[in-house]
Amino acid sequence: MAQGPYDCIIVGAGPAGLAAAIYAGRDRAGTLVLEKMYPGGQIANTDRIENYPGIARIAGPDLIEELRKQAESFGAQIKTSSEVTSLKKLDDGNIGVSCDDESFVGRVVILAPGSSYRHLGVPGEDEFRNAGAGVSYCGTCDAPFFKGKKVVAVGGGNTAVEETLHLAKFAAEVILVHRRQEFRAQKVLVEELMAKVNEKDSNLRLWLDGQVVAIQGKGKVQSAKIRNVKTQKEEDVSCDGVFIFIGMVPNTEFLKGFVELTEQGFIKADCAYLRTKVPGVFVAGDCRVGAAMQLATAVGDGVLAAMMMKQYLRNPSWWNEAVSDALQPGGW
Ligand code: NAP
Repeated sequence: MAQGPYDCIIVGAGPAGLAAAIYAGRDRAGTLVLEKMYPGGQIANTDRIENYPGIARIAGPDLIEELRKQAESFGAQIKTSSEVTSLKKLDDGNIGVSCDDESFVGRVVILAPGSSYRHLGVPGEDEFRNAGAGVSYCGTCDAPFFKGKKVVAVGGGNTAVEETLHLAKFAAEVILVHRRQEFRAQKVLVEELMAKVNEKDSNLRLWLDGQVVAIQGKGKVQSAKIRNVKTQKEEDVSCDGVFIFIGMVPNTEFLKGFVELTEQGFIKADCAYLRTKVPGVFVAGDCRVGAAMQLATAVGDGVLAAMMMKQYLRNPSWWNEAVSDALQPGGW
């Protein structure tokens, strides 16, 4: 027997989902947050956040804990270890949400399942992914295990730069391999990276125009094969670990056939009000098309979806109105 109906079911307790829960809870909407593991999403693996407006510096887990407490203080119920496996639109207009052994009904659903680590897809990556074998996607989590060791990091975005700087605090030697000359990361981070690289006797060096094409070893990582993408020349570089920081893929596999997805798996929605094609189903955060993939914008999405929810509950036919005519600013 399905539990509910809740006014609002939020799928995912990352920053987007928890921000939505705070706003929905403050509106006294009966709010249930379903989280497949524990609250936090990607941010739970971040040791420092310096670009969340108004907070000079905070650790990811600390911010998440504040968001969780705030959401619960306004009445939102957060269920952890509850992985949503399917959703369906019911005849009465509500939405059925199924987990493995429980099901729920919501008048509105806000999808905020976030994203997961992108894999390199090279030989050895899967083999050495088990704990302690040497392949990792999270410097914040695993850097201490590489104290005094030599590691290769891969990527050129914000995550790669931040996590490489973190690794350099523990490892004896860090090589950051990036497939181009320019970094995608924000300038302030690249400046910090270069300052570290240029320190006298630095333990951090860059390997540009490089691609890790294989991870090798017996039982654990012993080397990485790096190819120069311009000359195609390959070199085996001895190392104890390979950290892969090459972006994220949306966690939307379970939504196939329910909402429209792009080829890459991002949820299609109108970017003004975050409505999917299914009435009553909003999207928020990294998993939506056009997401800026920032903590602050994920939070903004959650807030917007929760506000738009009221518009829909007040007038369900609003769902089909064109964006430009739907609302005046502040009309909700
Ligand atoms: P990202 O910005 O998408 O960067 C991915 C990096 O990995 C790029 O440099 C890319 O190279 C490289 N890459 C992708 N596929 C690759 C492959 N198969 N082989 C080798 N290299 C590959 O990912 P991210 O750094 O994880 O960041 C995700 C989002 O979160 C971004 O929007 C980012 O701004 C945000 N973020 C923000 C902060 C912050 O503001 N402090 C911190 C972390 C993340 P190319 O550049 O050549 O494509």
